[in-house]
Amino acid sequence: MKDFELKEYRFHQSYLHLTIIVPLRIMNNILENAFSENGCEQGGFLFGKYEDDFSAVIHGIVSPIYKNNTRSSFIRYTDGMQDYWDALYKKDGYIYLGEWHSHPSASASYSDIDRNTMIEIYEADSVKIRYPIFLIIGKSKDYPEIKFYTIKNKIIYSYERR
Ligand SMILES: [Zn+2]
Repeated sequence: MKDFELKEYRFHQSYLHLTIIVPLRIMNNILENAFSENGCEQGGFLFGKYEDDFSAVIHGIVSPIYKNNTRSSFIRYTDGMQDYWDALYKKDGYIYLGEWHSHPSASASYSDIDRNTMIEIYEADSVKIRYPIFLIIGKSKDYPEIKFYTIKNKIIYSYERR
């Protein structure tokens, strides 16, 4: 008999009817990056594709060229990233899907600052997609906690793991 093998994570936002699919390999990559550097928050951009109007598939992460991170904050800058996005789109049709960051010593709930950042990103002219994805990797005891959020009319919606 074959062992049960998880191929992908699926998260669902029932009110907005949205689904996020993350291949296991990609999620593991994010988790490896989340807690890597002496307790500082890590993060970056999520890229991938839409399967249909409601389902986004994350195909990878990109580190920002410029960032400012501490043990309790993560700020990424978009400077210098456009060439990368252009190349990614040209090569595989991948687009910007959102952002991720870690809370190495806290839960995956969003802080007030996170909420304001999400609203800012959502409202940024450069963000063309309707529901940018925000992923926070927290820690509960010794286990990673994975939470996805999106935003509409300044209200934050969280996804449930399926
Ligand atoms: Zn945060």
